[in-house]
Amino acid sequence: MNKLLFAGLILTAALMGSGCNTSRPTQKAKAEAQAVAKENPGHGFVPLTAEVPPPKDEPKVIDAGPPPSDAVVLFDGKDLSQWKSEKGGDANWKVANGYVEVNGTGSIATKQEFGDCQLHVEWATPEEVKGQGQGRGNSGVFLQSRYELQVLDSYNNNTYYHGQAGSIYKEYAPLVNASRKPGEWQTYDVIYHAPRFDANGGVEKAATITVLHNGVLVQDNVEIKGHTAHTGVHKYQAHPLKQPLMLQDHHNPVRYRNIWIREL
Ligand code: MG
Repeated sequence: MNKLLFAGLILTAALMGSGCNTSRPTQKAKAEAQAVAKENPGHGFVPLTAEVPPPKDEPKVIDAGPPPSDAVVLFDGKDLSQWKSEKGGDANWKVANGYVEVNGTGSIATKQEFGDCQLHVEWATPEEVKGQGQGRGNSGVFLQSRYELQVLDSYNNNTYYHGQAGSIYKEYAPLVNASRKPGEWQTYDVIYHAPRFDANGGVEKAATITVLHNGVLVQDNVEIKGHTAHTGVHKYQAHPLKQPLMLQDHHNPVRYRNIWIREL
């Protein structure tokens, strides 16, 4: 066989092979995919039939921080300009060395109001251990000024389980006790969805909350049952979609720092 005839046979075999693999349905799918790709310029992903097409909107680019560049910084260690006293007037908790400390002047709330949100809070209970149960390092993060994520020194400190650190007060105990020692900084990372009410004040959708305590899941998308009152059955009372975030003064010198929130 001469060289020219051999090359011709190889080429014929290659063409036959490629033809066998290109069925009509595949050609149609490719044409559809190319049409989608034309509609979505810049997307490297070309879906075939029955695949999920890429969303048209590009996810917003942010600086992850911390804090993330799209977060509202509520306390950066310098001042309480974003806060007011629950009693009216300025927030008067002690600010020093990059943290703010509860000092018996009453709970404080944000001037801005929030609904659905991602929240980051750092806190520390007093290094000097005083009191016991609910009287040791008690404070609280009140979503929408009503629904308390408990802050407590729960390191070797017994109390009712749905009242310890990481609990939704008197509703849900934390899944685990991830508490650090008194005086050490701890974190809460929260995903919260506000309740929705109908025109008559009835509950259309309960609030839900997910909480990480020191990076550990302690509340897994639980439904809040109502205003987390100290006594009685918890009930909802209709309120506007956005409300202030509140930090509780429970007469223990609990400290907070690095508080930021992202509206969802
Ligand atoms: Mg409390």
